[in-house]
Order: sequence, then C-alpha cells, then structure tokens
Amino acid sequence: MECHRCGREITEDEAYAHQGQVYCDDCLMEIGLHAGRCEPWASYLAGKERVGKSGAEGLSELQKKVYQFIKDGEKTTRDEIKTRLELSEVELDAQLSPLMHSELVKERGEAGKLFLVTVA
Ligand SMILES: [Zn+2]
Repeated sequence: MECHRCGREITEDEAYAHQGQVYCDDCLMEIGLHAGRCEPWASYLAGKERVGKSGAEGLSELQKKVYQFIKDGEKTTRDEIKTRLELSEVELDAQLSPLMHSELVKERGEAGKLFLVTVA
C-alpha cells in the first residue's frame, strides 16, 4: 500500500489509519501537528511560525515588553533590561532569542560593550 499523502510505499507495519486514509509515520505526525496533537511540540512549532510570520504581532506580552524597552532606549544593555524588567539571565535569554530569531532585535558591539538595538 502507499501513503495517501506522500505516496510512499509502506508496509502494513508502517501504515497508520487516519480518517479513513492510510498514511506513513511521517505524514501522520505532520497531520497530527496540524490537528493540534502532540501538544508541546505543536505549540512550539506554532509559536515559532507565528513569530517568524508576523514579527512583533506574534510575540508574548513579556517579549513585547522587552522589545519595547529596547526600542525606547537608545543603547540598551542586557543588564539594564534584567534590572528594569526583573528578569534573570535565563529569562532574558528566553525573551531575546525569538526577538533575534525574527530579526526584530540584534546585538551590537560598541566600545567593548554589547548593546541591544531594534532592527529598523
Ligand atoms: Zn506519507
């Protein structure tokens, strides 16, 4: 038999039934993701996609706060954000990586110090 989605030849062992069709392992996983199964991974992917697609719109409240803080300040350092928004290094990193990933924020070295700036 073959997978209904990708057409790959699969044995009965590899075949999975889903809504009356037969799918291979890979396709079923993808369908499952879109259907909202495998929650942590699915929401992780969804979150990632959202950030990439719509820039600042897809950010969490805290990420927006960090972004706004960087935007408002002329030269913002990590320490400043940590102090002002009461974040730990790890917490700050968690906010910054999606911002940097979607190229809203970047780090700029100047006079031996690292500053965070928004990407215009
Ligand atoms: Zn398939």
